[in-house]
Amino acid sequence: MRVLITGAAGFLGSHLTDRFLADGHTVLGMDNLITGSLDNIAHLENEPRFEFVRHDVTTFIGVKGELDGVLHFASPASPVDYLELPIQTLKVGSLGTHNALGLARSRDARFLLASTSEVYGDPLVHPQPESYWGNVNPIGPRGVYDEAKRFAEAITMAYHRYHGLDTRIVRIFNTYGPRMRPYDGRVVSNFVVQALLGHPLTVYGDGGQSRSFCFVSDEVEGIYRLFHSDQMGPVNIGNPAEFTILELARMVLALLGSDAGIRHLPLPTDDPKVRQPDISRASEFLDWVPVVPLSEGLATTVEYFQQLSEHGALRVPPVLTANAGPDEVSG
Ligand code: UDP
Repeated sequence: MRVLITGAAGFLGSHLTDRFLADGHTVLGMDNLITGSLDNIAHLENEPRFEFVRHDVTTFIGVKGELDGVLHFASPASPVDYLELPIQTLKVGSLGTHNALGLARSRDARFLLASTSEVYGDPLVHPQPESYWGNVNPIGPRGVYDEAKRFAEAITMAYHRYHGLDTRIVRIFNTYGPRMRPYDGRVVSNFVVQALLGHPLTVYGDGGQSRSFCFVSDEVEGIYRLFHSDQMGPVNIGNPAEFTILELARMVLALLGSDAGIRHLPLPTDDPKVRQPDISRASEFLDWVPVVPLSEGLATTVEYFQQLSEHGALRVPPVLTANAGPDEVSG
């Protein structure tokens, strides 16, 4: 197979690229590098089945040759990033998805959309099954990401229903692991980098809000199986093991034997209070369940950030409250 992966220089896109290459496929990777990094694909420099094109998919995507699949992973994906890049986030979810769908249709290729647990917003149903429609604030600061992805799902389904395109939608839940950017502001990278620097871990609110963290190898395996399955409707891929943010902070401190402590900052606007995937669909139809527990995945992630810190000084990661805008809390 020859597949196009948009966002191929990103955290998930690069791991997905590796997964396709490992199975003997050919990958055309595309990225505009606004949040992706060539470091993530540097190991593929001499790989004959990989080609990289720097391109912004919000403009027409011209690709030569056959394609069997288009996997649309391009998007800023951390709250700090999409608050700094609100228009780009809306454009890549809308215009970018439209262009990627049009390309898939022109090649009769299978299309897979990287969607998100954020389509459930601040959920009123817990855990979240795919049948839940969500609780999203369209005009809140997070709306730029949530609504872009909801639009992306809608246009994907429209292409499926109207044009008969072969489509898949994965709803990705908080994923972590090597190649996360140390400064993208997400909780796992923030806590690990802060602990390595000996800075207090910035817990937003009282830390009672929960997330369910999936190690990247599990996430990518689920996505790969979904792509090769016949599941047309959205499928949650995430690890249902749920932790409060305070529990995560304590785990990171314990893992690093750190006495850096915890500093509480205000809870950002519309921060979901709970999040946990219902993965019945993935386990039944993809025969997939995550296998890496948080303790193990965190240890691997810490090693990755330790290596980065040996190659150059780590700096203090951003906190969301500083980027939330004038009508939001200030940290
Ligand atoms: N969070 C935190 N401290 C940080 C970064 C994040 O307490 O330095 C919290 C954030 O408020 C949210 C959770 O951790 O409740 C997960 O945040 P993240 O940005 O990783 O992803 P989200 O799930 O909100 O998209």
